[in-house]
Amino acid sequence: MGEIFVVVEHRDGELREITQQMLWKANELCQSLSNTLTAVIIGGKDEPFIQELTERADRVIVVEDERLKDFNGDYYKEILYRLIQERHPLLTMIGHTPWGMDFGPPLSIKTGFPIATDCVDILVEDGRLKAVRQIYTGKLFSKVSFKESDGYLITVRSGAFPPDKAGEHKGEVIKQEMPADLPEVGKEFIAFEEAAAGEVDITQADLLVSIGRGIGEEDNVAIAKELADMMGGVLSCSRPVVDKNWLPKYHQVGTSGKSVKPKVYLALGISGAFQHVAGISGAGTIIAVNKDKKAPIFRVADYGVVDDLFKIVDALKERLAA
Ligand SMILES: Cc1cc2nc3c(=O)[nH]c(=O)nc-3n(C[C@H](O)[C@H](O)[C@H](O)COP(=O)(O)OP(=O)(O)OC[C@H]3O[C@@H](n4cnc5c(N)ncnc54)[C@H](O)[C@@H]3O)c2cc1C
Repeated sequence: MGEIFVVVEHRDGELREITQQMLWKANELCQSLSNTLTAVIIGGKDEPFIQELTERADRVIVVEDERLKDFNGDYYKEILYRLIQERHPLLTMIGHTPWGMDFGPPLSIKTGFPIATDCVDILVEDGRLKAVRQIYTGKLFSKVSFKESDGYLITVRSGAFPPDKAGEHKGEVIKQEMPADLPEVGKEFIAFEEAAAGEVDITQADLLVSIGRGIGEEDNVAIAKELADMMGGVLSCSRPVVDKNWLPKYHQVGTSGKSVKPKVYLALGISGAFQHVAGISGAGTIIAVNKDKKAPIFRVADYGVVDDLFKIVDALKERLAA
């Protein structure tokens, strides 16, 4: 029976949510491929989340050493290479995070296994693995096939899968020492610095005026910002607006952005993809403006306006200025 590895991501004794998301998908893949699920922890002594992982995997391999307490991509690459040589997993799932982006590609070179990066889904078709990636800034999904190999590596985009528990597991814990003969590593962990909070905190706002791709072009962002200011609200957005660099990432609502809980959420030109809507489940009143009456945002909106957003924004500004 084959094995699927999920490389556990953690910091300061806490699991990062990408780990639970990968475990959810790995569980599904294990069922269709009749594989077993192995969570691989590379960390310090007695990390506190080992028990939690036994409930989500068939096996938890723990390589522990105080030198592994903080992330070092070189150690990850070397240790994973050895584990892969030893256990021959069909698939190794890695978060598409700064960690995974650091050690994933070198691990692919070292093992000779093909890698698909930044994947939003993983499929099994005719018994073979395929990965789904987004292209053209998320407008199209592409299905990626792998060349025939003994093993495959996939880095998974954060938010692609739910973090929910799946399947019944009573994982066996296998503890291993850090191999004594690892080659000298070139990288050194110095410190972890939390990213700056950003100029606005959309999670604390009572009123959010949120713009999507329907805003059309960068120059139009100012029109929505003006409305938000006039209403005493804060500007937020969907992911394409961030991908196009029209607003900084800390404005983004959704699974790979922030979850928000305003009293009022005014969505302008947002279609209502589940990754966006998941971020507004805590909102009070949702008002959506979209020129497409079939847009999924209307399924979650308390009030909907089927019209051109610029017409509505102008009308609101006129009323507020009066
Ligand atoms: C792993 C993963 C994570 C993701 N995380 C997030 C996330 O955190 N947040 C997020 O938002 N998305 C996220 N996405 C992307 C998500 O799937 C959608 O692609 C995205 O939410 C669509 O953004 P949008 O609604 O602005 O754009 P579109 O889907 O292109 O919708 C634009 C809408 O604007 C309307 N429109 C156009 N012009 C006008 C006009 N003049 N007046 C009125 N309406 C108009 C259109 O009818 C359309 O409904 C993620 C995707 C993946 C795969």
